[in-house]
Amino acid sequence: MNIHEYQAKELLRLYKVATPNGRVAQDAEDARMITKEYGGKSVVKAQIHAGGRGKGGGVKFASDPDKAAEIFKAMLGMNLVTKQTGAEGRKVHTVFISDPVDIDRELYLAFLVDRVTSRVTLMASTEGGVEIEEVAEKTPEKILKVTVDPALGLTGFQARQIAFGLGLQGDSFKKGVTFLLNLYRLFTEKDCSMVEVNPLVITKQGDVIALDAKIGFDDNGLFRHPDVMAMRDLNEEASEETEASKFNLNFIKLDGTIGCMVNGAGLAMGTMDIIKYHGGSPANFLDVGGGATEDAVKNAFRIILQDKAVKAVLVNIFGGIMRCDIVAGGIVKAAKEIGISVPVVVRLEGTNVEEGKQILADSGYNLIVANDLRDAAEKVVAAAK
Ligand code: GDP
Ligand code: MN
Repeated sequence: MNIHEYQAKELLRLYKVATPNGRVAQDAEDARMITKEYGGKSVVKAQIHAGGRGKGGGVKFASDPDKAAEIFKAMLGMNLVTKQTGAEGRKVHTVFISDPVDIDRELYLAFLVDRVTSRVTLMASTEGGVEIEEVAEKTPEKILKVTVDPALGLTGFQARQIAFGLGLQGDSFKKGVTFLLNLYRLFTEKDCSMVEVNPLVITKQGDVIALDAKIGFDDNGLFRHPDVMAMRDLNEEASEETEASKFNLNFIKLDGTIGCMVNGAGLAMGTMDIIKYHGGSPANFLDVGGGATEDAVKNAFRIILQDKAVKAVLVNIFGGIMRCDIVAGGIVKAAKEIGISVPVVVRLEGTNVEEGKQILADSGYNLIVANDLRDAAEKVVAAAK
């Protein structure tokens, strides 16, 4: 799960990691008042779960309170397109007003989980503010890395090593070390998967401050953090994924043309592999889980069919706990109540498979029954073309 910049900064403050003053403005008048409070100038920032806002017009400097109100009005509700949103962009639902900072240097900092070493890694660079992928490609020597031993945590030595590598001196050096140690504590205590501060700035006064912050959490740890869970913003998540989670269904959006309804993540992987093997491409996969009801299956169908990219659907169910007749019943119910506009290939195996096939055959709907996994893949790939 990801959160907005303003929420990430609330967490930073909680962990005594320096960040500029800032508040979400409720309306244009509020934006004006906050800017007044900050001495008459502010930075107005669109809150979306994507970076690159600065270049896309989502970060604007207001030179006086009226300007802030004006920018607020234009920003709220705008469709913001950045390098990370894709061409369709994201609608701005929240606008954050930040107390401006006099920047001396812009640096880059991130804690993330390195899958190669299976450890938390601290990455830093003197080239902040710009895209780190670009730095990694063109000047990889400018990226500093330390790997954190989980038993020791980020050590003082490692924090000093990075602060030194970033060229911090004197008071800024000390502040940088504290910044890193506190940020690491936040990372582990809140079960983060990524904390990125870009830019980390050194101000003209020598302060070390997070000007921007992006935090992602390990979903498997979320149950331990109701405070973090409360920060979830459904506006920012794919609507089908949200819809599916309401019915305890797991939906993952992909970019092909075949909708997949399966039970169990392993079978989902196998299903996608065999679709690819036969020259097709999955549009999504929807895992109905172990013990779904007819209604859950019906909803699963509805969600899959909402995706306009879907040209054919493959239902691949192994009835273990799940009974094939219930799946078949759900499919027929979906066909009756919502109508099925694309070819549907059904492969059922396991408990009550004969009853299930009978229900499909008796339904009067044109459902393509497959005999096994390969047959199913061939039929659905052909149907999608
Ligand atoms: P992003 O483009 O989505 O990553 O948004 P950021 O929050 O990183 O802002 C983009 C850029 O705006 C930063 O790299 C800074 O150069 C600039 N910026 C943001 N806030 C301030 C500020 O308070 N003072 C100054 N001088 N520049 C700022
Ligand atoms: Mn940024």
